Order: sequence, then C-alpha cells, then structure tokens
Amino acid sequence: MGHTPGEVAAFTSGETRLVYAARKDAPTGPLVLLEDNTALEMREYAKAHLRCFVAECPTPEFTTVARRSGRDGFKHLTGGGHSEESLFHKQGKHALLGWLARRHPEVDARLEVSLLPVVNRRADVLAVHPTGERVALEVQYSHLELAEGSESWAARTRDYQDAGIAPVWILGHRGVHFTDRRDGTVALGALGRAILEAGMPLWWVNPILGTVAVPYVISHVGERMFQLRPTSETRAVHLWVDSLDTLTLTGAGVHSPRLDFLDQQRRAHDDALAAARAHEATAEAERNKQAALAAKNAAQRAQHVAAKAARLERALRERLRAQEQRWLESSMRANVLAAHGNTIPAHLDVTPSADAIWAHHQHWQALVFGHVMLNHIGDTVTVRDCLSVLDEHRIQYNADAHRDCPGSG
Ligand SMILES: [Zn+2]
Repeated sequence: MGHTPGEVAAFTSGETRLVYAARKDAPTGPLVLLEDNTALEMREYAKAHLRCFVAECPTPEFTTVARRSGRDGFKHLTGGGHSEESLFHKQGKHALLGWLARRHPEVDARLEVSLLPVVNRRADVLAVHPTGERVALEVQYSHLELAEGSESWAARTRDYQDAGIAPVWILGHRGVHFTDRRDGTVALGALGRAILEAGMPLWWVNPILGTVAVPYVISHVGERMFQLRPTSETRAVHLWVDSLDTLTLTGAGVHSPRLDFLDQQRRAHDDALAAARAHEATAEAERNKQAALAAKNAAQRAQHVAAKAARLERALRERLRAQEQRWLESSMRANVLAAHGNTIPAHLDVTPSADAIWAHHQHWQALVFGHVMLNHIGDTVTVRDCLSVLDEHRIQYNADAHRDCPGSG
C-alpha cells in the first residue's frame, strides 16, 4: 500500500545521471537514450558519434559508464559540471518525448515549440492530437513564482488555457518541488498545491528511470482504508511509482489508470462514510429508545411500589379498625369497664413496642391478664400460657415477637 522510505528515496535518487546524449551529426535533433545495461556495448559508438546535449558545453565528448548498482549512463570524458537542474530538465523533456513516441505515435510531439502568434509562450513539449487538440507539457525542476509576474505559474497556465491549449505541469523528482520526508511520504509544496487547487492531477517525473510518481493520501473509515486523491489542503502524500508508459495523453491532459482507481476509492470511501453515519444514527436512535424504555419501566416500578405501599397501609388501617371494633364489641371490655368504674386501667393499656399481636392491645392484655395472670397469682406464668389464651380466642400473633406478652422473660 504505502511506499517505504526506501522506495521514495529510490525515486528521487540523488545522482545526476545522464541517460541521454545528442548526436554529433545532428546536435539539435532528437536525443539518444542509453538503455540500461548497454554501457559496454555502446561505449565505442558513444565516443565516436554522441556528445553532451548542452549546446554550449566546452567539453562535449561522452563515454558510457556501467554501474553494478543503479542504472548505466553517459559521462563526460572530461569536464561536465552542468547544473543538476538543467540536466534533469532537459532529460525530463526527452523522457516525455520518448513516452509520447512509444505510446502515442499518432500524436505530433515536439520540443520547445513557439506558440506565436497565438500566445507568446514556448512549451517544453507541445503535443498535437490528430483531432487538433493541443496539450502543453511543462517539466518543472526550478523554482517558479506562483502568481507574481508574466512568467509565473498562474500567468503561463492562464495563457495556455486562453489559447485553447491544455497545460500539464510535471514536477521534477529532485530539487525544490520534491521534499522526501523520509517516512515514506513526500511533502507538498506551494506549486503542487496550486496545481491541485486548479483541479489538475499532480505528477513527478524521473527521466533517468523513466518513471512517474502518482500521489495519493490514505483515509480510514472505521477499519477500512481508502486511497484518495490529494487536495490543496494536503500536507504530505504517498506515491505510486510507475513506468511513464502507464500514462496516456488525452485531449485534456495526461491520464493514469491510478486516477480511475483513486476515483473508485473516493466513491467507496464516501459510501462507507455515509453507511457509517447512518449506522451511527441508527445506534443513537436505538440507544434513545432503550433509555426511554428504561425510564418508563422505572416509572412503572415506582408506581407499583407506591401502589403496594398504599395497599398495605390501607390493609393495616382496616385491620386496626376491625381489631378496635372487635374490642369495642367484646364482652371482655364490658366486664373490664364494669370492674374498673367504666375505665380501662393502666395495666391493661400498655402501648406495645411492636405490632406483633393482631388485636387491639387493650383486648389481648385484658385476655392475658384475666385468663392467665389472675389464675396464677404468686405462680409462674409461661409465654406458652399467654399464647394459648390468644389461640383460644382466635387472635393471630407473630410467635417470634413475644416480648410484649406481659409476664414473659
Ligand atoms: Zn556537457
């Protein structure tokens, strides 16, 4: 997926190699490309017939150099010392010319074509389709003003477009427009971002290797990874490094199948994003539904608890009223009142500490006193005796809570 730092480093490899030479008999004609691994067989021919392609070169004699690692190339017999930028720029144009000759023999491609009188520009490579559509390819290694002045990127781009010529900017694999971040990515500079901002694809060419770098960025949706076209907001890009021959020339510019793939990825990415958002919305709705259900259940439970407490409260009041009623109507009470001057004596009116006996307290205290205590004066009374009296009068009690029974303990 992503390129290792080594692959980016290989693309931008530093050596100022020469893989093109001019013919001595036609120094301004097409250049000769030295195929890799042909240095030895081409050496005598190169010495005899080829020369440096820099017209004003003071030491134009060439030989070849075979490399064990890296690509074979030409070399000045003596001297040389041209700037890296000019050598790469010149070879970059020829690399594009070679690509067009191989892939688009139907296209008329020429170097340094003046576009006068249409526009006062000179395209690095002008490609004219049989249909008449024209594409200007510019290989850019050197610094370029973005918008200031008549030679700026914006001015040149606008002039081409106004003249009905599609401009294609191809950046150099070395120098100001290629910043290897040494983490497998390349930093986007101002020119690269301007090209993207204009809606054009971004390319870098390596004329020595005959390769083109196509940038992409990585975006994740959940667990899924997508490769997308960079935008003018992008800070750094990953690269695919392909043969120049994977490119095609269209009426509107340069195309790579990588761009189709990136567009597919964009659609899949957007679909995945929409699905993830819909899924999140569904999950959110489900969470809200569950929360509402839980709140409703809690309210119902609270209602049940309150209703049950009210029922118990009512039942208790009913029972106490019934117990009181039973006591008021009992002959025992009439007897107690008759025996005590129409009052209930204090020893038969002890407020119990617990509601363990289901009878009015005066009622059971009178029963226990009248049937147990009076019969056993000076004797021992058991709890069992007390409870037996309650049983006889069909008064329910909690047998564990007997401490209120007078005389117990
Ligand atoms: Zn030279």
